[in-house]
Amino acid sequence: MIGAATSLGSVTRLRIDLHAHTTVSDGTDDPAGLVAAAAAAGVDVLGLTDHDNTGGWDAAAAALPPGMRLVRGAEFSCVSHTGRDERPVSVHLLGYLFDPDHAAIVAEQVRLRREREHRLHRMIERMAADGYPVDAETVFAYLPEGASGGRPHLARALVAAGVVGSVNEAFATLLHNGSPYYLPRSDTPVATAIAMVRAAGGVAVFAHPLARRRGRVVEPDVLAELVTVGLGGVEVDHPDHSAQDRALLRGLAGDLGLIVTGSSDYHGTNKTTQLAAETTDPRAFEELVARATGVEVLAG
Ligand code: AMP
Ligand code: FE
Ligand code: FE
Ligand code: ZN
Repeated sequence: MIGAATSLGSVTRLRIDLHAHTTVSDGTDDPAGLVAAAAAAGVDVLGLTDHDNTGGWDAAAAALPPGMRLVRGAEFSCVSHTGRDERPVSVHLLGYLFDPDHAAIVAEQVRLRREREHRLHRMIERMAADGYPVDAETVFAYLPEGASGGRPHLARALVAAGVVGSVNEAFATLLHNGSPYYLPRSDTPVATAIAMVRAAGGVAVFAHPLARRRGRVVEPDVLAELVTVGLGGVEVDHPDHSAQDRALLRGLAGDLGLIVTGSSDYHGTNKTTQLAAETTDPRAFEELVARATGVEVLAG
């Protein structure tokens, strides 16, 4: 059941990466390709967390090699209205091991995917109207049926058209939250998303709460409020977190009894981070599994 572990002196450590994306959202590997890439990277436990979508679960499960375990999940697009700042902040919530047929989750994911599609069309129209060589056909060619569309798909079209040199440059120049081409969505209030994940037997983990380069972030004391509505964990070790913010979050997690996770947030070639660049402690993983009642961790 336990796969090829990495030996660190006398301690045998599993490589646990609990946050990765596929072509079902804004990653560039399809679900089977993600599993193969994870195996090549020596990952023992993989979390599959596409944005607002569980459509990759079955294909990833079918591709699991012997020894690898799959934690089925999703990353929910949310807003936080809590905290001192009155303006809502865009936040992401990781849900793990929830029942994917839970009616409220299905309905909200369908709503968000439709809204993502409409928003992407409107962003493309705005850019095309200003003379940028982008069109819906090119952008939507990156999106398999039922996938969650987003800015990274538009970014890829801008790279292909030679407007920018990389997806990262597209975000820095044209697609960031303050850009005239950026359009918001009506994402789920984070407390509502936590309640849905819990009701579906899953564990809710606040994704990269202090990823400051993406825009405004929540006040850390929001975590305490969310614990009261069922938040179970916080992603501390993430490529977009500074050492200082990791220390702050680790301290808060200890005070609040939150599970601490670490993950690459791998997006294939849409980002430079590689699988297992950040990992989760095996004891934290065990705690997460112990709190879930929705679906099982799958073993290859
Ligand atoms: P959207 O869901 O359309 O609002 O787009 C947000 C997504 O863009 C996030 O899920 C990230 O994966 C991705 N993203 C944000 N900033 C960058 C960046 N600088 N480079 C590549 N991808 C990014
Ligand atoms: Fe993403
Ligand atoms: Fe995220
Ligand atoms: Zn993510």
